[in-house]
Amino acid sequence: MLFCVFAKSELRHLFEVLSYNCLVGPTVKETSPESWPLYAYEQVFDFADLAFEHTTTSHSPKKYFLPHRLTMASYALNDQSWRKEVHFTPETPVVFFGMHACDINALNRLDKVLLDSTYPNPFYAARRRNTFIVGTSCSPQPFCFCESMDCETVLHGCDLFITDIGELYFCEIRSSAAYQVLQGISTKEAKSEHHALFIQAAKKRKAQFTSQMDTTDLVRILDMEFQAEVWHEWGRRCLSCGTCASVCPTCYCYGTEQLIDLTLGSARKEMRLYSCNLVDFAEVAGGFNFRPESATRLKYRYYHKHRGFVEAFEESLCVGCGRCGQACLADIAPVDVIASVRREAEEDG
Ligand code: SF4
Ligand code: SF4
Repeated sequence: MLFCVFAKSELRHLFEVLSYNCLVGPTVKETSPESWPLYAYEQVFDFADLAFEHTTTSHSPKKYFLPHRLTMASYALNDQSWRKEVHFTPETPVVFFGMHACDINALNRLDKVLLDSTYPNPFYAARRRNTFIVGTSCSPQPFCFCESMDCETVLHGCDLFITDIGELYFCEIRSSAAYQVLQGISTKEAKSEHHALFIQAAKKRKAQFTSQMDTTDLVRILDMEFQAEVWHEWGRRCLSCGTCASVCPTCYCYGTEQLIDLTLGSARKEMRLYSCNLVDFAEVAGGFNFRPESATRLKYRYYHKHRGFVEAFEESLCVGCGRCGQACLADIAPVDVIASVRREAEEDG
């Protein structure tokens, strides 16, 4: 990997070099009742609107790769024939300017299922392969536990990764496209003093984490505690609203639906993101629901993230962004749920 440094004033030039593409980045969307800025990924046209040094966005960049609603195919029918059009052709290339490590790691995990698996999802693949990602370091929020999930840094999945080292930005160059882009701005070779500042910044960030999840032997503990009472306790609180999956950068469950025009002249097939917490998630033909209680649905979400995915891919499907706990109206946060399961295991022992 190549490293360089550049003056903070050069960030605007990097933005300008990349902004001949569709450029998406963190922006201040609204202000909370406590007067905190609320960030969202949006298309950015002006550098002044970019909130590069942002904290966690309410929603992840997942919506650009797996939109909540997507037309997969459309059909036109007439008396003589019919025509089908599949809509997975790559869209306009997108530059993501300022993505945190947790969200890049989330995309790497989605890749395992939707890109590199036996049955890749062409709609996801078209979007994912058509992007240029500029990652950036963050300041951990009280709810962030990405460090516990080994997701506070990235080794792949982006083109550039920029870390604030005080007077300068330290830049990790991870693709040949990124190398070319950097020719358009003024950079310097990273020297040993810059490496030292980078390591100091990483240490400082690590020390700021206040939220942690103990993942030691978690797969075994989950296997042992499958019938634990705590699942019912959390289930009684859960509103089955699906907000957690909506904000989660790694939840990818979706359903498909055929929508036929009343004239029978056209139809379309839609993909809609879904949540395993919703009451009809496990309903099958004939109306039978094999997960009718909220406790079993909530448990399923945790077992998929922290048990099944780990067995299949040797890492968790949770990157520790903390968004689901922040968004949940019932105050259900992964750190608390997993801690309660561990407590029950210890009490059982
Ligand atoms: S855990 Fe929270 S956000 Fe998720 S479905 Fe239940 S109430 Fe909604
Ligand atoms: S489960 Fe929650 S904390 Fe984990 S990646 Fe999803 S939203 Fe983030």
